[in-house]
Amino acid sequence: MSDFTDKFSDMIFLGIIGLHQRLFSNEECVDLNEDIPALRRACANGAFLNCKFGLYQNGQHILPQTEWELFNIFEIPLAELIDQLPTEYSKEIKEETKLYFIEALVECIDTEKCRFAITDQGYFVMSNNIKIRKSVKNKNPLREYHSQKIIENMFEQDYVTKRLFLINEANVYIPCNKIDQTEEQKKFIDSYEDLVKLCYTKNSSNKNKIYLCKNCGMVLKQDESGNFKCITKECNKKIDEREEINISQALIMNDFVAKCIYQPGILENNIRNILDKLKKSSIVLDYDIYPGENQSTYDTWDFRVKLVNEKVYLIDAKDHENVNYIIHDRIPHMEEGSKLLYVVPNKKPKNYLKRINEHFIKRKENIICIRLNELEKVLRKDIDI
Ligand SMILES: [Zn+2]
Repeated sequence: MSDFTDKFSDMIFLGIIGLHQRLFSNEECVDLNEDIPALRRACANGAFLNCKFGLYQNGQHILPQTEWELFNIFEIPLAELIDQLPTEYSKEIKEETKLYFIEALVECIDTEKCRFAITDQGYFVMSNNIKIRKSVKNKNPLREYHSQKIIENMFEQDYVTKRLFLINEANVYIPCNKIDQTEEQKKFIDSYEDLVKLCYTKNSSNKNKIYLCKNCGMVLKQDESGNFKCITKECNKKIDEREEINISQALIMNDFVAKCIYQPGILENNIRNILDKLKKSSIVLDYDIYPGENQSTYDTWDFRVKLVNEKVYLIDAKDHENVNYIIHDRIPHMEEGSKLLYVVPNKKPKNYLKRINEHFIKRKENIICIRLNELEKVLRKDIDI
């Protein structure tokens, strides 16, 4: 998708998310003083595009720059707005998106009080677009929208390559200077520029230094008073031990990727090391990482392991504080004769594992929960029998 179409789509989608928030934050009357970041961002996108691409007609900007203008545009079919754009841009939007077919999203039900209602078409668009659907339900819709864009990009193509890059400790930051980039980083930026833009933010500090967490390897955040912070409680206990890196400008992995991809990846990397070792000692025949054949099917388990005796183990790395995340995990269809192992960090208490295992024993499912340091023993035992 071109930069123009991408920003234009964000303007529309964030506008819809913000509109929903505006209309439902207060059912009695719309409080126009309440700041809605999604609307602010939608209008900023409009202003940015008008300016960057010179979108003016008879001295007036074409894309909405204020909330009022945005709502007015939502009252008519989007085709009318798209047709006003210079041909090259309207053509691009028609070819790359379905926005041209969106009818009026809102209707004005009380002109005097400026009250709007979402139309059936508006609800249809909201329920059929996963980015909008998930964002309107979230406490922080703007952040959720950004996260959904990352997930969408990863599922589009080369899911495994992208995820492996993001869980690699060497990629928690990428030097802006090409000379300092690794070969893997150079290749990744060339192939997945859009994803890099979504997952990394340029460091704003001009201290020529960044600090890495000794516990997880992530780049530490520093607040205004100079205090350091990392992603987990454990990291923050060891916050005083940190590694200093001299670098002037770098792209830093953002919070969503750090928490939802990089952090769980630490346990996945540890499992992968054990599987590689067992492959060398002819216990494991082979394994797939993030198995999934089609778009969006990768969210199954983290590994499908085939032992030399042909037995199949499905392994899912889990690091949740609450056991219910594992007990109520959505389990995709398991192939016949396979066993699912939930592998949790070694620090998890006995009781934690007991609660999970009792649940699955009761249900007679072929699922067990083990600590990372038991994985090798469990797989070896299967071969020894
Ligand atoms: Zn950390």
